[in-house]
This record gives sequence, C-alpha cells and structure tokens, in this order.
Amino acid sequence: MNDGTITAPRFYNTLGRSLQSFTPLRDGKVGIYTCGPTVYGDPHIGNLRAFVFEDVLVRAMRYLGYAVTQVMNITDVDDKTIREASAAGLDLDTYTQPYIDSFLADLDTLHVERASEYPRATRHIDEMIAMVEQLVDNGHAYQAEDGSVYFRIASDEDYGRLSGFRLDEAQQGERVASDEYEKEDIRDFVLWKAAKPGEPTWDSPWGPGRPGWHIECSAMSMKYLGESFDIHCGGVDNIFPHHENEIAQSESATGKPFAHTWLHAEHLIVDGEKMSKSLGNQYTLSELVEKGIAPRVLRYFYLSVHYRQKLNYTADAVESAEGALRRIDQMRFRLDHTQEDGPPSPKLAAAGKRLQEEFRAGLADDLNLSEALAALFRYVKVVNVEIEHLKLGEWDVERVRQALADVDQVLGVLDPAQWEEKESASGLADKEIEELIGQRREARAGGDYSEADRIRALLESHGIVLEDTAQGTRWKRG
Ligand SMILES: [Zn+2]
Repeated sequence: MNDGTITAPRFYNTLGRSLQSFTPLRDGKVGIYTCGPTVYGDPHIGNLRAFVFEDVLVRAMRYLGYAVTQVMNITDVDDKTIREASAAGLDLDTYTQPYIDSFLADLDTLHVERASEYPRATRHIDEMIAMVEQLVDNGHAYQAEDGSVYFRIASDEDYGRLSGFRLDEAQQGERVASDEYEKEDIRDFVLWKAAKPGEPTWDSPWGPGRPGWHIECSAMSMKYLGESFDIHCGGVDNIFPHHENEIAQSESATGKPFAHTWLHAEHLIVDGEKMSKSLGNQYTLSELVEKGIAPRVLRYFYLSVHYRQKLNYTADAVESAEGALRRIDQMRFRLDHTQEDGPPSPKLAAAGKRLQEEFRAGLADDLNLSEALAALFRYVKVVNVEIEHLKLGEWDVERVRQALADVDQVLGVLDPAQWEEKESASGLADKEIEELIGQRREARAGGDYSEADRIRALLESHGIVLEDTAQGTRWKRG
C-alpha cells in the first residue's frame, strides 16, 4: 500500500550490465519510455510479453511509492507500414488506424493499464526535424548525395555503450541494407530519408522525405519526458541497433545523458522454439482466445517468469498458470463461505505482515515476480489452514480480501470478478449463481425437493457444479 514512503528498487541496467540501485532524476517521480508497436499487423504474444512486463513495471513503481509517467510511442510510419499500406492501396492513416485500435484492445483484454501518452510518429514530425537540424548543426549528421540525412557514427566516441558493439571491429559492409546510398561511412544510420516515389512525405530543410525509425523514439521520448529521463524499456531485440542509435543521436544532440536505466524483456519462445511465421507458431492474442486460453491465464503466465529469462509458451505452462489461479480462486471461495468467530487470528495477522514485506522486497529486487508470487502462495497456505481449523475471527475475512487487493494493484490478475465479463459471456454471473443457490437452499429447507432439483439442473445446464458440504453449498464452473 502506498503510504507515502518509497522503497528504492534495484534493477539490472543493460547500460553497464549490472545490478544498480535506482535513484530517480526528480524526487519521487519516475519517467518511463517504452517502445510501442509498429502498427502494420496485430502484435503476437511475444510482443505482448514486453508490454505486460512494462505494465507490471509501472504498477510496481507506483506500489513502491513513485509517481510514474509512462509514455509509449506508436510507430505509424516506417518501411513496413508504408509497404503494407501501399500494397493495400490505402493512405497511411487509414491503413494504420485499425491496428492502433486492435493494439489498444489487446492491452485492455490483458488488463494492461493505459500509459499517460501514446504519441504517434506521424504527429511528431516537427520535433524529429528539429532534432535532426540540431545534429546537422553540431556536426553529428550530414546530408548525403541521395538527399537523405545520416548520423555520423564516427563522431560518437562512445558508440556501442549499450550493446557492447565495437565500431572498430565492425566489418565494412556488414550492415548494408537495401536502401543504403552515398554515405561517408557504411555504418552511418539514417535520420531522415529522402522522398521516394509513391511514399508519404513531409517537407523538411533537406527536401521532402520522412523520418528514420530511431529518431522517432528519441524525439517523442524527450518531448514528453525531457532530455534526460529515468527508464527506457523494450524487448532485447531493440538493444541493437535501435536503442544504441537512440542513445547516440539523443546524447549527441543535447550533450546530456539520455535514459538512465535500460530494461529489456527477453524473448518468448513456443514449445522451446523461436516464434516465426514459417513455423506457424507466431500466435496473436485473439488466436489464443479462440483456442480457449483465457486472457487472465495468459496474463498470469506472463508474470510467472522473470522478465530477463526466456519465457517458454507450452501447454504445460498454460496448465500450471491455470492451476495457480485456481488455488487463489478456491481460497477466495472458502473465504466467502467461512464463519468468523472470536478474536482475530494472530497467525493470519503475522502472515499478512510477512506477505507485504516479502512482496515489496520481491518487486524491489529487479522486479522479481517469482519471489513476489512465492510470498503470495505462502500466505494463501496460511489462510487455507486457518479456514480449515475455523480460526478466522472478527474482520479476518476482510483482512484477507484487502491483502489480496493490495498485491493485485501490481499483479492485476487475482480477482476473478474483474475478469468475469469475458469469462461469463456465455454463462451466468457469480451473483446470479449465488442467488439461485440461495433459492435452492430455501426450497430444500421448505421441503420442496423437486424445485431444488430443478434449480440444480438449471445450474448444471450452465456448467455450474454444486457440492453440498457441512458448511453450505459450494459451486464451481465445470
Ligand atoms: Zn523505440
């Protein structure tokens, strides 16, 4: 719970490749920039892993006491969006809008909280041009004969500080792309691309053209978070060249350090293999939902492995995520049907305190959710034992509910009621089920067994299984 005190975390900073204790640039405030989607298709479950990691990071920083501003860009102009829009015969905006909408819908489905800003590249061309001008003015960039503007990589002595890339060891020609022209140095990267026939263009001091991808993120992050800010995130595949180039151009433009801490989420693999179109295992969220995987289960699966480890999507992993959620749900169910009697349980109070401490410590330890979740399950175990022994006293049920709600500010996955709408779309809501069970109880108490049987049959027809116990009737979705 945020009571005004701050727990400073430590993070594994890709910049420097070490665990470092985190200090924000401004007291109590954290600015986080996360590379967003390129909107030419639906994100696959590997992209979504990074977005869920970033969601948990933002929630965790708030839980630890910081005020967080999160900015996530939307790349709506680059080689791929232009190619696909042109193939579809649509202008860029008309082509990308449905993918922006479906991206945000995917985030909602996974209960990812909205960022403070989702700046679109096409709406920030002026800022990008201004930054390229700065780089040209101070000698870090030049316009080549082809009309494009390039970053002069030899002008940045520290190039490679993020990825460990060694300029002096780079082979000439190693990084030649299909559209390289008359550059001073083959390793120079493009800041502003001169117009090509049929492409969308914007006017600039160097003639009509469009921004390169890397400059988009530098310009938009600095616009919303300042020239120096706290945390920059992305997937490991962004480290080189994208993030390396962002650092080079940003710091060369401003002369100030760009992002202080760089966090990168590892890849998601499927059945031990790299995802790829050719293997047919590059699933989108809606494809998994069609296969019957609940979004809540998928979110838990994402949380279950540390962000710096590869996450292996397998049937077993999904099953174990389901099992973990079931344990929490069953505890909640017992909690709803237990009696509070006598003084509060001292064991429960101690376990609640321990949960708070251990959960917070787990988050502060480089966002170690496995530690945090282990603390939660130790707590669940204590609660179950106390319920079993009928040890819950006055207000204890409410205390447990609050403890779960507290950690769920970060996890965002524990309360089935918050996910119910989607899961009960074809069935009954919990409240309706509880009501019918109440009616059945009354019917039985009044000796009307045929009415009681009718209600049981009705519930069963909706997939609800009843179990009559000494403490009352339990139910579950069968
Ligand atoms: Zn980016």
